[in-house]
Amino acid sequence: MDHRLLLASGFWLFLLRIDEDLAGTARQKGCSCGSRLHCANYPRKPRGGPTKDLAEEYAWRLSFCCAREGCRKRVTPASVRFLGRKVYLGAVVVLVAAMRQGASPRRVHVLAELFDVDPRTIARWQVFWREQFPQTAFWRVERGRFLPVIQAAALPRALLEEFLRHAPDPDKGWQRLLEFLSPITLTGGLKIDISP
Ligand SMILES: [Zn+2]
Repeated sequence: MDHRLLLASGFWLFLLRIDEDLAGTARQKGCSCGSRLHCANYPRKPRGGPTKDLAEEYAWRLSFCCAREGCRKRVTPASVRFLGRKVYLGAVVVLVAAMRQGASPRRVHVLAELFDVDPRTIARWQVFWREQFPQTAFWRVERGRFLPVIQAAALPRALLEEFLRHAPDPDKGWQRLLEFLSPITLTGGLKIDISP
């Protein structure tokens, strides 16, 4: 598992293009009422990773709003850059938590410095991946596609390794993983499923 990819600005530009494609598709579809969509992006202040070198588009979560008076419905496409409402970049939330796990976990202070993340935040991410994420309706459905079964205690590392193992190169592996996770970037996407 190599962290250098996530410190390269080219990787983030690559993810930006994917988000722009997702947004373009959403815009083309228009509002459910049949009207056109206007740009209504949310401001973001992304943290973690090479934030100084990020394209200025990273200050925005792409989103739209219906152009019709009386509707004005909000349409926010999925994102491979931002994970739900977390202020940190999605890939960083996955990678840093994954690097803390496994046979030779990286020390917290090394990761904190490398990705400019508070050690307490890293601890919260680990709780998120092990305790909250496994209970989401999303994971309860999607975990069935992985064999051997991915245990909650192995998240997110086992998930990341799975995607990297089956991809021709790390860029592609990350793209597929972040696209896979993108439904949880939508409102309600992290809803906990309390059914047994
Ligand atoms: Zn509308």
